[in-house]
Amino acid sequence: MNGIDAISLQTLLENAHIGVVIHRWDTSIVYANPTALKLLRLTYEQIIGRDLADPQWRFIDDGNRVLHHNEFPANKVKRFRNPVTNEIMGVLDGNRKNATWFLVNAYMDEADKLEDSFIIVTFNDITDSKNLFSYENILQNSQDIVIVTEAGDIDSPTGPKIIYVNAAFEKLTGYSASDVIGETPRILQGKHTDPDTLARIRTALLEKKSIREKILNYSKTGHPYWLDMNIFPLTNRYGDITHFAAIERDITEQMYHAEQLEKRNKDLKLLKDNLEQLVSQRTDELRMANQQLERLAFNDSLTNLPNRRSFNDHAAKQIFRAQRNQFFLLTGILDLDNFKNINDTYGHSAGDQVLVSCAECIMQFFRQEDIYGRIGGEEFAFSIIIGNKSDAELICNRLLDSLREKKILLDCNQHISITASIGYSLASPNAEICFDEEMRRADQALYQAKNNGRNHVVAFLTAE
Ligand code: GH3
Ligand code: MG
Ligand code: MG
Repeated sequence: MNGIDAISLQTLLENAHIGVVIHRWDTSIVYANPTALKLLRLTYEQIIGRDLADPQWRFIDDGNRVLHHNEFPANKVKRFRNPVTNEIMGVLDGNRKNATWFLVNAYMDEADKLEDSFIIVTFNDITDSKNLFSYENILQNSQDIVIVTEAGDIDSPTGPKIIYVNAAFEKLTGYSASDVIGETPRILQGKHTDPDTLARIRTALLEKKSIREKILNYSKTGHPYWLDMNIFPLTNRYGDITHFAAIERDITEQMYHAEQLEKRNKDLKLLKDNLEQLVSQRTDELRMANQQLERLAFNDSLTNLPNRRSFNDHAAKQIFRAQRNQFFLLTGILDLDNFKNINDTYGHSAGDQVLVSCAECIMQFFRQEDIYGRIGGEEFAFSIIIGNKSDAELICNRLLDSLREKKILLDCNQHISITASIGYSLASPNAEICFDEEMRRADQALYQAKNNGRNHVVAFLTAE
């Protein structure tokens, strides 16, 4: 007797975790091991000698159909003389709604005489793994896309092979399962798929790590769509990574809205920038308009010389400067001679040109600290501080000279020259000075200059 024969088969059966029931050829039960009794929830007395055709509980098949007595494993073996292999069968007892599920095998232990043969039925409890729903069902009905690829060949030109896609994949991509099984997921990528995203995915796959990315893929007809893609490795029962699964959600709409929002924000920013630019431009314009107004308030618009008001204001201050420094104050009025003739001969705008030229001449003649302005139509005034009394006449004559020397080119291409008369008043350092009085005196002297034939200087003569 060798070692194995020494093992008691009876003991083996009593300790096995697999249910074993032995039937006679007439299908009555001669033996059931403890696991069988436990799984079938019967006592030894309840089972021995019977044939399981008990109306108390029923066998059902994979599709929940109640099996006929003839379809019980022992009866099937007896009828067809063929073993039953790995059949899934459920047992429903009286009041239990849920079945206990078994993986059933049965075969005939044939004796010389048929009626001495036995039928051996074995069964494993697979209730835990045989759920009432199928995972495949879940995958196929998922709104999310599911793709499973092999884990190898990440870097080969053919890429990892797709071995499974669900219905959602077929619906979104337009590829049928048979189109893509055996292909690489790379066929889904296209022109605008971001190479950096692909590089990150490739690295994760090579390192056999999970990764989540947003990626642009293309349908069978070339239509682009965005996916939020979650790739993770699948392991077999030895812990080896054999496959990758990707669960992917179509986020095209979401990306479109995000893009629209970004575009709107950009447009708004542009609008804001434009508005700011417009406001700043308007502010500049306003500032310039104000400056212009200010200039107009103080300067003559034709010649840009200080106007009468501005001249009066500044000239009044000259008095204090002259007195403080013990200087003479020269106040003069210059009036163009026979100016009316110029207007009459060449026209009013030619007259304007002459006035502008005179103003330029006056501006060039005086120093920074001198005060001068246009106080009337063709009348100009000045208020300057001088050290010597005798300088007054000289200065006034030099001014008339420079006006006389000026050749003015009119628009009509004609050169003309002009003369002017000056009346002035000179206030000595110690005198009590009144600006209005000085102006009156200068005006009076001017009147004399005009009366004396124009084109010269007349001083107001005081008693001193
Ligand atoms: P007088 O030698 O006596 O000063 O003779 P006049 O012709 O210069 O003096 P009058 O006062 O008779 O004439 C001044 C002229 O100046 C009359 C007026 O039409 C003209 N006038 C005043 N302001 C302007 C101006 O801004 N532009 C032009 N073109 N002419 C002006
Ligand atoms: Mg005049
Ligand atoms: Mg005049």
